[in-house]
Amino acid sequence: MKSTILVTGGAGFIGSHLCERLLSEENNIICVDNFSSGSKDNILKLLENPRFELIRHDVNFPLYVEVDQIYNLACQASPLHYQNDPVQTVKTNVHGSINLLGLAKRTKARILQASTSEVYGDPEVHPQPETYWGNVNPIGIRSCYDEGKRCAETLFFDYHRQYHLDIKVARIFNTYGPRMQPDDGRVVSNFIMQALNGEDITIYGDGQQSRSFCYVDDLVDGLMILMNSEKVTGPINLGNDSEFTMLELAEKVIKLTGSSSQLIYKPLPMDDPRKRRPDLSQAKEKLGWKPSVALEEGLMKTIGYFTGVL
Ligand code: NAD
Ligand code: UDP
Ligand code: UDP
Repeated sequence: MKSTILVTGGAGFIGSHLCERLLSEENNIICVDNFSSGSKDNILKLLENPRFELIRHDVNFPLYVEVDQIYNLACQASPLHYQNDPVQTVKTNVHGSINLLGLAKRTKARILQASTSEVYGDPEVHPQPETYWGNVNPIGIRSCYDEGKRCAETLFFDYHRQYHLDIKVARIFNTYGPRMQPDDGRVVSNFIMQALNGEDITIYGDGQQSRSFCYVDDLVDGLMILMNSEKVTGPINLGNDSEFTMLELAEKVIKLTGSSSQLIYKPLPMDDPRKRRPDLSQAKEKLGWKPSVALEEGLMKTIGYFTGVL
């Protein structure tokens, strides 16, 4: 029998790809979103499918639906967005998670949390294994997101220990691809939009900070394998373990777009992590999953999407 699956944040960047994949496997999907950073455009095609249901709803309020699985992706993910209303960001991670855990408890649904590499903060261990507890500023401008997500992990594990909930926690590293909002401020969308528009490419700091970029299709595969694994609870890192500096990323985007954009340097935002790369040993061993899309290939697909948006 096919499952009824709730995806919160389903109209967002990753959520819309996840809904599409889950629908293609004949499941019934309930997509919940308050459209704070997501968009109806992302799921317009899915709305034609009778097995796809959309509810405009803020997860900070209780939700009563009957489901078999829950993917909790509701949370603004770009620093620009989540710092715009930091109190709402904390609430979404804490109140929102409590409501969805309460829903999972009542319906006995399996529930997956979209956690983040931000739980490692500005890491002193490199690459980051799941056993690393992190280096997070509790009172900085990123804390609403970092500490919110850390508290959500705490809630998931306490509901697991106290009420025996069937939980999964994925620590997602920087993910990119089509349907990122062109103006959401994240580095991949910023660089591509700037390159396509012939504008200066904004490098924050000296551009030597690093990130590891995962193409969205790989990430969605990883999330679904984790959700359907009987043995793995997590937390487990999902991402791509090829690491690039922001200067290297800018060079690639300029080359692939054939742009004549120049680099300009802007101040590094507070608490911006200096380096980040997942240790994927657990994902490879326990889930048999690893990313397969190289950065240039994924960037080409993403550039194709943004060219269409312009
Ligand atoms: P996104 O901003 O595109 O998606 C988040 C979605 O959640 C949006 O559609 C937004 O409208 C919705 N939302 C926000 N607050 C809500 C609320 N209170 N109630 C209902 N809906 C709400 O971002 P994304 O990149 O697709 O991220 C999805 C999830 O994955 C987030 O939880 C994010 O923290 C996590 N994540 C993403 C990345 C990444 O690099 N993209 C990395 C780590 C973790
Ligand atoms: N909740 C929900 N949907 C449900 C069940 C619960 O939104 O189907 C919310 C409800 O707001 C509740 C919260 O989840 O306060 C936590 O539920 P739990 O059962 O853990 O706690 P309690 O009901 O005792 O507050
Ligand atoms: N960044 C940049 N220029 C931009 C946007 C971001 O140099 O126009 C840098 C940012 O300072 C950070 C990295 O790119 O070091 C990744 O930023 P993003 O907001 O995409 O994700 P996060 O910091 O949450 O990993």
